[in-house]
Amino acid sequence: MNVAILGAEPASQAVAQIIENGYNPWLKTKLAEPLNVAGYTVGGGIGSPALGDKVVLHFVQFAALYHKGLIHKIIFPREIFNGQTQVLSHLEMLGVKIEDVCMAQRLNSKIFSTNFIEPYLSAKHLPYLEFHVADHCNLNCKACEHYSGLVKEPHFPNLKKFTRDFERLHEFIDDIGVIRILGGEPLLNPELNEYIKLSRRLYPQAEIHVVTNALLLQKMPEEFFETLRQCRTVIDISFYPPLESKIDAIKNFIESKRVSLFVSPLNKTFTMKQTLNRHDRPREIFLQCFQAHCHNLYEGKIAACFLPFTTKYFNAYYEKNLPEDGALDLYDPTLTTEKLKAHLLKPFERCRYCTPPVDVEWTTIKNPSPITDWVHD
Ligand code: SF4
Repeated sequence: MNVAILGAEPASQAVAQIIENGYNPWLKTKLAEPLNVAGYTVGGGIGSPALGDKVVLHFVQFAALYHKGLIHKIIFPREIFNGQTQVLSHLEMLGVKIEDVCMAQRLNSKIFSTNFIEPYLSAKHLPYLEFHVADHCNLNCKACEHYSGLVKEPHFPNLKKFTRDFERLHEFIDDIGVIRILGGEPLLNPELNEYIKLSRRLYPQAEIHVVTNALLLQKMPEEFFETLRQCRTVIDISFYPPLESKIDAIKNFIESKRVSLFVSPLNKTFTMKQTLNRHDRPREIFLQCFQAHCHNLYEGKIAACFLPFTTKYFNAYYEKNLPEDGALDLYDPTLTTEKLKAHLLKPFERCRYCTPPVDVEWTTIKNPSPITDWVHD
């Protein structure tokens, strides 16, 4: 069977080597057909130079060979988690079946030949997960799709209940590429340290990030920075204009705390993609949607993005009835890893109210906030 490996980076090459030197010999002992790594496949330009004895194919070239029956499957290394869901969407648009997508095991885990390659849907792995530790915010940007500016009363999850929910998710998904703890503004939550520790306990191999507007960062107690260090957690600053004069001081401050830091480019614009006019292209919009990879865990449910959980704030503020569907109940007794992962790849009714994004100038909202702060028609 001919296969391609996602990416052309060291992790992709390591997966190819393990297949050739470890997995294939094991398959032979089981009288199973070995895998022939035909090449690597990337989203970049057509005509990339070969890597060793293997071709590097653009997704379009891969799909052409796949449809001719010359390559049968694509294998995703777990280490390539950034953009993995977008790659899946791209492949779906090119007619590649999800049944022909596989996952390799993590390269730093003890590798058992028996499960080195698994079908994508049954691999207990997600590339990305995020969750709110506060729905409200202390900045309140216009067009924030989490609708944090419309949350009238402070709202935190219940830590005990959230712990049960996260442990329930772990029964189906025991490995995550990156976990982002956000909101709203996560630094408003006095129990934030517990959410970080919980994430690290359940997902020892994940990249963990706390995503903040940084307004409170220099006021956080030392225990917070100790937790970040112990739990190998990165601070992600979403950089907005009010921070412009302070960002260098904040960077120096975080460096002095020996905590990893990522700062986004300065956000002088925001994207707005919400509409009140229902359209008939949910699949097309979903497949092109960046947020469709922002899988969100909220009150015992999981969804492809956060809108199934945050639309309630928009509906309550403006007395509208935008759909609040799209979430999957983690306590459904019939739930399996396959069902969960398949659910996250499907559009839903709420997607009919999203459009391709348009840029709007970044600003904060005033109270009361006109509906034009959130929808562009
Ligand atoms: S509702 Fe659908 S289209 Fe809109 S942000 Fe979420 S996944 Fe994307």
